[in-house]
Amino acid sequence: MGVSFFVQNFGCRAAQADGAAIEASLVDRGFAPAERDRADLVILNTCTVTSAADNDVRQAVRRVRRENPHARIVITGCYAQRAPEEAVALPGVSWVIGNSHKGQIADVLAAGIAPGTPYHGQIHVGDIFAQKEFLGGVVEDAGGDRTRPNLKIQDGCNNRCSFCIIPFVRGRSRSAPPDWVVEQVRRLGERYREVVLSGINLGRWGRDLEGGRWRLAGLLRRLLEETGVERLRLSSVEPMDLSDDLLGLMAESPRIAKHVHSPLQTGSDSVLRRMRRRYRPRHYEDRIRKARALMPDAAIGADVMVGFPGETDAEFEENRAFIESLPFTYLHVFTYSERPGTPAAEVRPQVPVPVRKERNRILRELAAEKNLEFRRRMVGRTLSAVTLEQRGNALSENYLKIELASPREPNQLVDVEIGGVSPGGLREKTALPVIG
Ligand code: SF4
Repeated sequence: MGVSFFVQNFGCRAAQADGAAIEASLVDRGFAPAERDRADLVILNTCTVTSAADNDVRQAVRRVRRENPHARIVITGCYAQRAPEEAVALPGVSWVIGNSHKGQIADVLAAGIAPGTPYHGQIHVGDIFAQKEFLGGVVEDAGGDRTRPNLKIQDGCNNRCSFCIIPFVRGRSRSAPPDWVVEQVRRLGERYREVVLSGINLGRWGRDLEGGRWRLAGLLRRLLEETGVERLRLSSVEPMDLSDDLLGLMAESPRIAKHVHSPLQTGSDSVLRRMRRRYRPRHYEDRIRKARALMPDAAIGADVMVGFPGETDAEFEENRAFIESLPFTYLHVFTYSERPGTPAAEVRPQVPVPVRKERNRILRELAAEKNLEFRRRMVGRTLSAVTLEQRGNALSENYLKIELASPREPNQLVDVEIGGVSPGGLREKTALPVIG
């Protein structure tokens, strides 16, 4: 029997795709997939975006040791890259492999467990900027839903937002070559109705290729022309990359989901500057209004952060009012958490935790109101949707979960007439019972 492994992924879609690439490379090297409580190797592919993410990793190590004491634990991913000494000090951890060596993880493990070599090894992370290769990967079961694969086509980020650890743990922006993306999408399009394109800073895709002549919109055109994929969805795109060309293409192509997700972080100009974000609120507003004008029924979402160091009541109110004024259909609200090594972690005063929590609650309520208003607007419409693995559910083009009147085969593109709102989404219209 060969050596068996289990990969547990944490964090964003990019990390999930990395995990899929690690799995594929291990299978290529002759390792066999197994359940977590039986595997010889348990690979924790980690995230470090918040202190809660770090905690999740430590908890997972304890859980693996409890349920599978013989497993050798490998920590890789962003936490391994940011805090290798901390990771290797966790009891039971055999290897720590940073993002800089993630592409070679199968080779490292194959060498490390070869007869005669001590398996209790540790790879110290090298200089992150030595990380040049793009680690391609496809997740075919993101979030437990096997019907909407996620294809990572970009990694890393050249920005230096003052709160963010990601550029330190993932390095500079790197793009998957266009031919590789076309091939992957063609292959996925044969099996799935919808393919999600993702990256750490997806809107920067292509800038590092062939003298910077590529743009995301150009790639989408190639995908529409050269593959049969029925629906493409973009994950997060920074506001300044929402070009007129990209938004116009999204609006005009029936094969691109009407869904714009663009990180805002805050609508307060002064906080945005302290965050070292590269746009002002007026730029952001201009892009969102353009998206709404071109796509009246699109999902429009944003990541927002509350409790950034020094955020005053007035700045928070400015943020809240800005968000209220824009046509968002959902928000991802994050509470600021100090990441050691980032400039923002050094700023004083930090906002007291109870105040951060209260601001989070206020924005979540605002987001819920906006989302409900949007869902109500969809009642009576017919929406195009992909049926999900979770029987009886579908996800609309504009990112709303629909409870179907009766279960349908997963992975179908269907038109659904909306009869009403459900607690978190929409309900399909049911035919009235015929009486008599
Ligand atoms: S754009 Fe800013 S927040 Fe996003 S990954 Fe890059 S540095 Fe981090």
